Amino acid sequence: MFPKTNEVKVMRDPVHGYIHVEYQVIWDLINSREFQRLRRIHQLGGTFQVYHSAEHSRFAHSLGVYEITRRMVNEVSGLKELSEEDKITVMCAALLHDLGHGPFSHAFEAITPVKHEVYTQRVILENTQVHEILKKISSDFPDKVASIIDYTHPNELLNQIVSGQLDADRMDYLLRDAYFSGTSYGNFDLERILRTMRVRENKIVVKKSGIHTVEDYIMARYHMYWQVYYHPVTRSYEAILHSLFKRMKDLYQKDPKQLSELKMFLPFLQQKDTITDHFKMDESAALYGFTLLSESNDPISKDLARRLLDRDLFEYEDIHDNQDLTRIKKQVENLGYDPDYYVITDEASQRPYKPYSGLEGHNIWILQENGQIEELSKVSDLVSAIVKANLKEDRKAFFPTH
Ligand code: ZN
Repeated sequence: MFPKTNEVKVMRDPVHGYIHVEYQVIWDLINSREFQRLRRIHQLGGTFQVYHSAEHSRFAHSLGVYEITRRMVNEVSGLKELSEEDKITVMCAALLHDLGHGPFSHAFEAITPVKHEVYTQRVILENTQVHEILKKISSDFPDKVASIIDYTHPNELLNQIVSGQLDADRMDYLLRDAYFSGTSYGNFDLERILRTMRVRENKIVVKKSGIHTVEDYIMARYHMYWQVYYHPVTRSYEAILHSLFKRMKDLYQKDPKQLSELKMFLPFLQQKDTITDHFKMDESAALYGFTLLSESNDPISKDLARRLLDRDLFEYEDIHDNQDLTRIKKQVENLGYDPDYYVITDEASQRPYKPYSGLEGHNIWILQENGQIEELSKVSDLVSAIVKANLKEDRKAFFPTH
């Protein structure tokens, strides 16, 4: 029922050493056109404007999430016992979980109200190569894979493997983003976590002896957020992207003809995009669009596109109250800019670990010596302090000074 490849295929990976593929369906999915498209989408959107080597793709990250999942279902006691079908379903879901991303991750969502999660479901369930490959296993197999990504598969363990609080997705992106940004914040001992992982009461848990590694993982998240993901220069780049997309939307509403050259964006502006339009919309297409816009007759899109291409980014300032914002808007107006597009506020806030935020599987559980399981913040003073601390928030305005 689940044909294997002639021999185990391996791909070199700087984070995991090798990615191992032994099932034909995984190999076929990797070679599908929708999965290959992920080579043309950066994992970290605009972060490479700050950390110049953080140019790794969603393709590499997706392979990494698959590899961690493959190891979990082959090595972790309690997951090793899953049926072959469950193992393959969760490995497919891990591989495909980010398929729906558009260019520059969340900034693109300024142009289309459709979230990337919805596109991921569509690529799996509509008429695509990925869908055809999954359907060869069985007619309901695409739905099973999609339900894990949606967190609705009846076997909770499968959902937790791909997206819990200590899941294959986060473990890969922290390690990978740390490696490619050249920072050391995101590092933690993945080997030790996998060795101390178990299953109890239908939950993925970590043995008490692995608690320090889990603390390290939580700290890795905390530091990566503030040092890399929320770096103000990344946010400045994304603020300009956001403004440019907003400007395109406004121009289109006034007079669609103004954007007739920008064929790649039109289906999204018309909100009539098909899965084929989504396939074509990658970062090379978007950047080509920006090059066209940098010669546009509209001074605002012309300037914003040029800023993106030349990395002539906005300055930033912390915003404490509305007076700060009014002052900045005045300043920008005096320079001759429209504050609607040239003053962007952005609020970043993050807790590295949130217990009881909804689903039970979203807690990290620690297996005590007496066989009981406890939620992480109850048994770790360090994590308990982080959970109790005030939410760290950072509100900034981004604006040009020349
Ligand atoms: Zn991911």
